[in-house]
Amino acid sequence: SYRKGGYHAVRVGDSFAGGRYIAQRKLGWGQFSTVWLAYDTQCSKYVALKIQKSAPQFAQAALHEIEVLSAIADRDPSNSKYVVRLINHFKHTGPNGQHLCMVLEFLGDSLLRLIRYNRYKGIDLNKVREICKCILIGLDYLHSELGIIHADLKPENILLFSTIDPSKDPIRSGLTPILERPEGNPNGGVTMSVIEKKLKRRARRAVARLSGTRASMGVVGGTPKSERCLDAIDVGCKLVDFGNACWADKQLAEEIQTRQYRAPEVILRSGYSSSVDMWSFACTAFELATGEMMFTPKSGQGFSEDEDHLALMMELLGKMPRKIAIGGAQSKDYFDRHGDLKRIRRLKYRPLDRLLVDKFKFSDTDAHEFAKFLCPLLDFSPEKRPTAQHCMQHPWLNIKNLNQNELKGESNVDKVDVGMSKLQINVGQ
Ligand code: ADP
Ligand code: MG
Repeated sequence: SYRKGGYHAVRVGDSFAGGRYIAQRKLGWGQFSTVWLAYDTQCSKYVALKIQKSAPQFAQAALHEIEVLSAIADRDPSNSKYVVRLINHFKHTGPNGQHLCMVLEFLGDSLLRLIRYNRYKGIDLNKVREICKCILIGLDYLHSELGIIHADLKPENILLFSTIDPSKDPIRSGLTPILERPEGNPNGGVTMSVIEKKLKRRARRAVARLSGTRASMGVVGGTPKSERCLDAIDVGCKLVDFGNACWADKQLAEEIQTRQYRAPEVILRSGYSSSVDMWSFACTAFELATGEMMFTPKSGQGFSEDEDHLALMMELLGKMPRKIAIGGAQSKDYFDRHGDLKRIRRLKYRPLDRLLVDKFKFSDTDAHEFAKFLCPLLDFSPEKRPTAQHCMQHPWLNIKNLNQNELKGESNVDKVDVGMSKLQINVGQ
């Protein structure tokens, strides 16, 4: 993809916008862009630089994202709504063409990485609740104040950030910006790994300072030290990637959302509203708590991925009401006139709370309460799903239970250690 119309190749020390931003290291990439940590020499702070591919359709998508992010930022001067802030944008010309660049506030790891660090075992429910609250504030802001549908909500597009004063953050204050391209190293490759190593070592030291060494890590007064540090650092998350977002009253695409987080009305082409984000939100919350995606549809002999997806939904949530099943432009392909799937006849029903107990070893109470929170969000009737604002009032969000492992008398130090210390290393500004 590093060719004409594609990504712009960046090297450590490269400068942008007439020397204002200096590339430090790569933060991530997506289908449309690469994202770099950059140092803003004018404001003396770190930013994230999203450099779009150059072909016209990508430029178009970037212009759209800039429009949406500007609307979001304009209405929220205090930047308190858990949505990434667009700081600036400009064009950059390179060998592969002209690239639109977005300067965004620098955030930390995505929730997907957090799930990986926890070895796909799921995150403590109290943490899941805190993260859910942040996502809901962001969604409520988008939906009710701006009329925007995110349309691609998933763990990858939700990033953590630290809310404490940067001068007190040992990780951030320890970073020295790179101001020019390291010499004698035309492709930046070696330098890159040296810098990465240095960054990692520094971050490890900072974590050790905060939480005691690995050896001394233990459960003190019921809370593992590393987890207390997480609280001390005070982490939120924010929504990113508005490349697919749309205004509720001006929808462009028919097919929205990433497969596993896609709502049934999108599959059936029945029209959609902001409640598609609530469906994806429920899938995301489930994944945080269990470490596994809620739905992973696959095509098989005689049926498509869409049909498998609809079957999985019904196995977990019950049969889809006939009116809804046959109500979409695509319905005839999948459902007969009784509202039964044409090609997948036998469904193995297993309600959500049973699944949480049987497969993910939740306690009965935890499973019951969590299912009561999730199920309304997964209503097949989009208009019956609670809005973000409504969902924020749900009692589940304010339950504070003892750690499941503590109840079972097991230590979860290891799990927390891996998850949370990594989290601290990567928390952005
Ligand atoms: P795309 O539209 O190409 O999918 P995204 O906006 O999703 O691009 O960004 C790609 C990746 O870059 C994200 O998954 C994340 O890892 C990283 N990233 C994006 N924005 C930021 C940011 N503001 N701070 C830190 N990392 C970011
Ligand atoms: Mg993305």
